[in-house]
Amino acid sequence: MIDLHTHTNASDGSYSPAELIDRAVALQLEALAITDHDTFAGYDQAIRHAVEAGLDLVCAIELAARTTGTPRRTIHLLGYFLHTSPSPGFRAWLEEILTSRRERNLRLIDKLQSMGVEIELNEVEGIGRTLTGRPHFARVLVQKGYAANSEEAFRRYLGESAAAFVERQQPDAKMAIQQILAGGGLPVLAHPGRLNIRDPEIEEHFISGLKDAGLRGIEVIHSDHQPWDVERYHGLAKKYGLAMSGGSDFHGDSKPKVALGTGVSGNVNVPRSVLEKLRKAG
Ligand code: AMP
Ligand code: ZN
Ligand code: FE
Ligand code: FE
Repeated sequence: MIDLHTHTNASDGSYSPAELIDRAVALQLEALAITDHDTFAGYDQAIRHAVEAGLDLVCAIELAARTTGTPRRTIHLLGYFLHTSPSPGFRAWLEEILTSRRERNLRLIDKLQSMGVEIELNEVEGIGRTLTGRPHFARVLVQKGYAANSEEAFRRYLGESAAAFVERQQPDAKMAIQQILAGGGLPVLAHPGRLNIRDPEIEEHFISGLKDAGLRGIEVIHSDHQPWDVERYHGLAKKYGLAMSGGSDFHGDSKPKVALGTGVSGNVNVPRSVLEKLRKAG
């Protein structure tokens, strides 16, 4: 068993890179990919520990991007195997994303403060470190009693239809795919089931459009996917020649229902051959 979608506390997971490696080893995972949002910091910290423990650690990243066609969506892209390169161009492009994120965070603090919420940027950055995102804002709001839990923090303040929401500039999907390719990586559409495109024909058209833009793989197995989703995405992967990927999207205590390696109630079980085929596609 392997897990090709996990987060450390370098983004919004709760386990440190070393702790995540320890858990993967304890579970006897045959391979693990760290797919932190917008940063390689977790992988950079984990790699020595993984080598010592004899764990096959894959470098990856998860990026959000906006599509322009219909339906218009924010998609998540996984970029695998960037470790040998990440070209200077790719790293510079990541810096731009982090800068626009920081600028969004400043505006989000302003908006929260104007609503009477006593919150400072350094409190949020203290837990978010390299990558401060809305989940870290949610944690501070909960700690300070503004919300009972993270869901409520998103509902009342941070979510897309909530009072303090501020838009973050997101790269265009085609450009993000091209950046991953140019950086030497394999671009894979993460958890397509979350896009909630109800009509299978529209969904297929959406995915084939991404393939035309350079997409090389699709995350067929994911803890949010139902068995029929897995079947449908497996079929689309074959039809469009997309490599298949799979993982739990483990975030540790930030998403306690999702277990490393096995997902929600065992709905994730990715065989090692998936990684071998991904490597061939990369
Ligand atoms: P950011 O990239 O800082 O805008 O934060 C995006 C992250 O916030 C996502 O990856 C989710 O983990 C989390 N998130 C977004 N919307 C919600 C929501 N409505 N409820 C809980 N978590 C959310
Ligand atoms: Zn996340
Ligand atoms: Fe995601
Ligand atoms: Fe993820």
